[in-house]
Amino acid sequence: MDQKALIGIGSNLGSPVENCRKAVASLCESEEINVIKQSSLYESEPIGKKNQPWFVNAVIEIQTSLSPERLLKKLLNIEQQFGRTRNEKWGPRIIDLDILDYDGRIINSESLTLPHPEMLNRRFVLEPLSEISGSTIHPVQNKSIQSLLNELPKNPVVKKISIS
Ligand code: ADP
Ligand code: MG
Repeated sequence: MDQKALIGIGSNLGSPVENCRKAVASLCESEEINVIKQSSLYESEPIGKKNQPWFVNAVIEIQTSLSPERLLKKLLNIEQQFGRTRNEKWGPRIIDLDILDYDGRIINSESLTLPHPEMLNRRFVLEPLSEISGSTIHPVQNKSIQSLLNELPKNPVVKKISIS
C-alpha cells in the first residue's frame, strides 16, 4: 500500500450525494486500497454543457498497491457497477471517478494521462483538493495545488455543501 493517489469523484444524476458516498464505500471495500483522506462534498455549476443538473464533487486521497493502470480499471469497474453509460463528453453522469495524481508520476498513454490534464482548469477539482492536499506540488506545473487554485477565476461556481 505504498503508493499515494488522489481521486476525483463527481455525480449529477439520481442522488448525487448518495452516489459519491457509495463510490467511496466501494473503494474502501477493495483490499488494495486504503482511503486516507476525504474532502467535504461540494456542489458545482456544470461546465461545457450548461443545461444539466449541478454536480456534487469530492476528492479523496488513497494509498494503494495497484499500478496506475490497474487503479484506472478498478475505477472504471466501479463506474460500470453504478450503471454508467458513456454518452456525450461533458454530459450528465451517475458517477465519474478520475485519477488526478498518482505519486507525482507523469504518464501519457492511450488510456491514461497523469496528472489529470483538466484538473488545472477545474475549480470543482482544485477547491476540494486544496482542502485535503493544498501543499501537494503539481508535477508538471511545479506549483502547489493551493497556488493553482488561487490563479483560477471564481466562475463557474463551486460551493461547499454544509451537510456531511
Ligand atoms: P471525463 O472524466 O474526461 O469526463 P470519462 O470519464 O468518460 O471522461 O473518461 C474517458 C476515459 O478517460 C477513460 O476511459 C480513461 O481511459 C481516460 N483517462 C485518461 N486519463 C485518465 C485519468 N487520469 N483518470 C481517469 N480516466 C482517464
Ligand atoms: Mg472520468
